[in-house]
Amino acid sequence: MKFTCRNCKEISEVHYLEIKRPRGINQVLFRCVNCEEDYHCYYTNAKIRRLQKEQVKAREEGLYDKASELYNETKRRMDELNEKKGG
Ligand SMILES: [Zn+2]
Repeated sequence: MKFTCRNCKEISEVHYLEIKRPRGINQVLFRCVNCEEDYHCYYTNAKIRRLQKEQVKAREEGLYDKASELYNETKRRMDELNEKKGG
């Protein structure tokens, strides 16, 4: 996936970075390789990261109902967290 930087207009490949924030929060973002402008994606916490792992595992094991339940749970918690953080 490619994006055009709003700052320098350079087109570059998206590489996601996960940056540790206080209180167990990680910020997922990608960065322009040219001017280092940050593009915020979303925040995760320990619970969300655990749910994401469980979801991958469930899918690998072919437990698609469980995977979709976990997906919904992850999404709900992520929406909650990201609303609190103001996007
Ligand atoms: Zn840029």
